[in-house]
Amino acid sequence: MKEKIGFIGLGIMGRAMAACLVKAGYNVCVYNRTREKTVPFAEQGCGVSYTPKQLAGWCDVLITMVSDPAAVDAVMLGENGGFAGLAKGKTYINMSTVSPEYTKQLASKCQSAGITFLDCPVSGSKPLAEAGTLVILAGGEDSDIIRYEPLLLAMGKKVIHAGPHPSGSYLKLAVNLAMAHMTSAIAEGTAFAEACGINPALMFDTLEANPALSCKYFNMKRNPILEKKFTAAFPLKHTLKDIRFVMSVAEQKNLGIPVTEQVLKLIEKSVSLGHGDEDISAMYEGIGKK
Ligand code: NAP
Repeated sequence: MKEKIGFIGLGIMGRAMAACLVKAGYNVCVYNRTREKTVPFAEQGCGVSYTPKQLAGWCDVLITMVSDPAAVDAVMLGENGGFAGLAKGKTYINMSTVSPEYTKQLASKCQSAGITFLDCPVSGSKPLAEAGTLVILAGGEDSDIIRYEPLLLAMGKKVIHAGPHPSGSYLKLAVNLAMAHMTSAIAEGTAFAEACGINPALMFDTLEANPALSCKYFNMKRNPILEKKFTAAFPLKHTLKDIRFVMSVAEQKNLGIPVTEQVLKLIEKSVSLGHGDEDISAMYEGIGKK
């Protein structure tokens, strides 16, 4: 018998991930703060809960995929929150990207309540979520990760065993640090080519033609940057959140990461200019502006 899954958070990622679980034959019930987003699930015969508490009381495994720690608090704490409905012996998997410190708090809360907890942020944005081919960065007890691998693989193509809590969150931040740098590199390369009177498409063509530099990610972001159409796949506001988490971990570990400091400034500039809800590639908008 497959587990009954309670899924909280039907944003860009969550709606695609929950749909993959339905497709894989799980009995899925959903909750989302903005109730309209639950309509497509109700139309497919999924249950819709009025509160996270009600959902947590019904399911075997509760999953959250919301924006940030404040959003997880909003759905998990309080009299109608998920923790109020999660009985001893159940499982909670947080797939939202949060800080490692926050993951430690969730893990300790679950441990004292007898709830199995996995810290499973994901790598891959909307297209991979829709295809069910995310890479899932799992933190927790190895035996728990192995137990829930079939469930996780309904949403992803690979589960990476990152280590004990909060290793999933640490690994996710390392990956997003690299991705932010890659984005800033092609955004600045484009702006530089434009300033020099070079067609920036030629930069992408050159990167693509050189086997040592060609990269699917660069190709994915090519059109958004060249056409200046930054429809969100991975919103820039989430990159800002993640890179701030990176900086705070680096400070705790006494690690200097000077390039990331500069990338953070660029992200902050682009968000302050009103591009937070656009794609990560909207970092381009902050370049060259004082
Ligand atoms: P999103 O489209 O912005 O959706 C955010 C979700 O969180 C929505 O369901 C939203 O509810 C809910 N939410 C936000 N604040 C809330 C609050 N105070 N109370 C209750 N619910 C709240 O985000 P996303 O792109 O799906 O990303 C979700 C998580 O995955 C983030 O942690 C992000 O960093 C991470 N992630 C994203 C991507 C990506 O490419 N998009 C890739 C990997 C990881 P409403 O519908 O009511 O607003």
